Amino acid sequence: MSKDWNKRTKLVHGGTRRSQYNEVSEAIFLTQGFVYDTAQDAEARFLNAGPDEFIYARYGNPTVAMFEERIAMLEGAEDAFATASGMAAVNGALMSLLKAGDHVVAARALFGSCLYILEDILRRYGVEVTLVDGTNLGEWESALRQDTKAVFFESMSNPTLEVIDIAGVCTLAHAVGATVVVDNVFTTPVYSRAIELGADVVVYSATKHIDGQGRALGGVVLGTQEFIRKTLEPFMKHTGGSMSPFTAWIMLKGLETIDLRVRAQAASATAVAKALVGHDALAKVIYPGLEDHAQYDLVQTQMGAGGTVLSVDLKGGQEAAFDFLNKLEICVISNNLGDAKSIATHPATTTHQRLPDEQKVELGITPGLVRISIGIEDTDDLIADFVNALG
Ligand SMILES: *Cc1c(COP(=O)(O)O)cnc(C)c1O
Repeated sequence: MSKDWNKRTKLVHGGTRRSQYNEVSEAIFLTQGFVYDTAQDAEARFLNAGPDEFIYARYGNPTVAMFEERIAMLEGAEDAFATASGMAAVNGALMSLLKAGDHVVAARALFGSCLYILEDILRRYGVEVTLVDGTNLGEWESALRQDTKAVFFESMSNPTLEVIDIAGVCTLAHAVGATVVVDNVFTTPVYSRAIELGADVVVYSATKHIDGQGRALGGVVLGTQEFIRKTLEPFMKHTGGSMSPFTAWIMLKGLETIDLRVRAQAASATAVAKALVGHDALAKVIYPGLEDHAQYDLVQTQMGAGGTVLSVDLKGGQEAAFDFLNKLEICVISNNLGDAKSIATHPATTTHQRLPDEQKVELGITPGLVRISIGIEDTDDLIADFVNALG
């Protein structure tokens, strides 16, 4: 049955629930609530709702349940909970797990909002946070303690595309009984082996490759049934970060094509990276699928491909980076990623603007760095656009 389907079949049919009309395309149940036949039925459902019984959209909804089942199948996770955004997913996963006095170890190279949750919010609530160089297993080992409750990292960091050894970190973290939470956005669900490699909880911003067409904010937390239903769900349903049914429908349709899109984007990203290597205007081309990438072997075993994002460092610093961005004709200047449209951004002045200069240096966010998310346009057109803009 559906458990044995291969990925592409799961992406198209997984989790489908049909109404009495037997519609082909998934229905959007745009309703906040559900009617009970009797007062006794309401009482029974509040006591113990079955898999096809819903109470209130903040708790769950048939369209949202379809999305959760489909992504859980793809990821190979027992269960999933869909959230209003990627940040609601990261926040929910960490806040539902932690309490004052707990210790967390996290990689230093993180998306700005993830860093805010760890450094500002968790610390304010009495959680001790240690940040390490995520690519250095020795640093993880010395930071982990017997009382470490959780570990958090992005499997591929933004925007310098360092890849973290999921299996290596999980072995160390599990030795002290810590729960491993992986933000897997840059790896994408298509190339993810996170659960198989030992991750306890996997988090996605669905805003990125899952939607893939820049329409809606969304997120998802995946893990064991025990974690999702006993730890995460009570936190999410009472704090209000659930996904809307309309968003779930967009994300379901996104999942149908994600494998085709992401593989095409990654193939194109590889071709673009290869075409730009050695260009006179560039100090560096960073792409995990290039053989000169520091973790190339790990990338091959952990993902099997380099992903859909590359970064270039222009020799001329910020002025040259801005000039390059302004000359692009196909690739747009924006800060999303994983979109069908190619998107370029200057991290130092946008996504990572908030960071002090020394932290930017530490994270490799140089004035000349431009992050490029490759879309599904024609590869030759994209290469011509980048080469032309480099001058
Ligand atoms: C975008 C992103 C997020 C946040 O997702 P939103 O949907 O924008 O809330 C979290 N982590 C990573 C790595 C991201 O790229």
